[in-house]
Amino acid sequence: EAQVKMDYSVEKTSSRLWNAMHRYNKDAEQTVAVSGEGSWFTDDNGMKYLDGVSGLWCLNLGYGRQEIVNAAAEQMKKLSYFPLTMNHQPAVELAGKISELLGEKYQTFFSNSGSEANEAAFKIVRQYHNQTGNPGKYKIISRYRGYHGTTLGALSATAQANRRVKYDPPVPGFLHVYPPYSYRSIFGGGAEESDLKAAQMLEEMINWEGEETVGAFIMEPFISGGGVIIPSTKYIQRVEDICKKHNVLLIMDEVVSGYGRTGKMFGFMHAEGVQPDIVTMAKGLTSGYLPLGATAVKSEIYDAFKEEGKNNHFRHVSTYGGHPASCAVALKNIEIIEREKIVERVNDLGEKKLGKLDQLIEHENVGEVRRIGFLLGLEMVTDKASKVPLDELKMAEIVGKCKQEGLIIGKNGDTVPGQNNVIIVAPPLTSTEDDLDFIVETVSAVIRSL
Ligand code: PMP
Repeated sequence: EAQVKMDYSVEKTSSRLWNAMHRYNKDAEQTVAVSGEGSWFTDDNGMKYLDGVSGLWCLNLGYGRQEIVNAAAEQMKKLSYFPLTMNHQPAVELAGKISELLGEKYQTFFSNSGSEANEAAFKIVRQYHNQTGNPGKYKIISRYRGYHGTTLGALSATAQANRRVKYDPPVPGFLHVYPPYSYRSIFGGGAEESDLKAAQMLEEMINWEGEETVGAFIMEPFISGGGVIIPSTKYIQRVEDICKKHNVLLIMDEVVSGYGRTGKMFGFMHAEGVQPDIVTMAKGLTSGYLPLGATAVKSEIYDAFKEEGKNNHFRHVSTYGGHPASCAVALKNIEIIEREKIVERVNDLGEKKLGKLDQLIEHENVGEVRRIGFLLGLEMVTDKASKVPLDELKMAEIVGKCKQEGLIIGKNGDTVPGQNNVIIVAPPLTSTEDDLDFIVETVSAVIRSL
């Protein structure tokens, strides 16, 4: 007669929440954010911190933009939701704007997050191959260290050991190749040569698995959370060539790099001539003001399998995906990015201000400084010759000391066991020159104190 009784008492529920959401656990001396303005937020003790990782690489326009808040409120007053099976005005307008920004005609499907945007991409890949006579092409290749999300499919593409293995087995059909990580390349040669060999490994895998089984390759143009890895742009071009040759769709995960972070509207645009089949986005799409994911698919791909009058269009329904208020926020966000010439600003100040951190390469514990736009990684080592990764305690010390000084920075967590040794700096793209000076001075002083 064992009847399992769930205990939903407030006390139990909240204590479970405390445990699961350790970010909010005061017992662990966590900082609780209360308000924010520009690049700064204030905690519940009145302490101010510069958010040097933009929340989670999403806060491109910083905290407290009244214009964005108004856009959300006005939309909610005008049309707070939308009738079933219909589109709504902000979504239609946003989809058009995304095509314009991507420089070609894309169809865009909206969802709730970056993870879901990638899930939708994987489904589109399967449907496209299924309905164009290649039903066997279901495998998805991604790269070690890449991050693509937290739901099971996206997590299966996420080849970061510590995040994934405890939820094994992954969804079948997800395979991984080495990234173009020239600092620790297993391929040898100079940076560009080893990057091109990493691209070659993709082709080897496609051949090995059989081209008729491989559906897509997913990549971030610049691996961000996995340690800020910035390949030669020739790598991205070579990857695209390989994908085209084998009828493998190229999915560009622009969840972090999209909307200006790297000094182009989208990261892939650094590689001349590249035009991915599918582009996924979230985070910077709304600057974090409301949740929204988007999966943009080249119209020629979508049109290849969607037949008018037949019930074979892409199905990806989620109640809140593409919420009108989120789309209105995204439109306002993009309007501000364009009006304030944020992309140019990132190029200019990324070089002029964050570029000063290049000097840290003189320090024995800094193995490599990697940066593009407002995305910067410092690969920390015990010494330059051995390249042994700096240990977790030292890494925590760097992050902790910066926090004591009022600066929040990140590090690659849970990427590869024993290799969580990259300090990550990625401030809001609207950070003032003083903000950027503060970041440079604080990070430099903390690292020099090691
Ligand atoms: N792709 C990349 C490159 C990301 O960094 C993230 C989030 N860190 C995601 C996908 C998943 O986005 P979300 O957290 O919105 O699901």
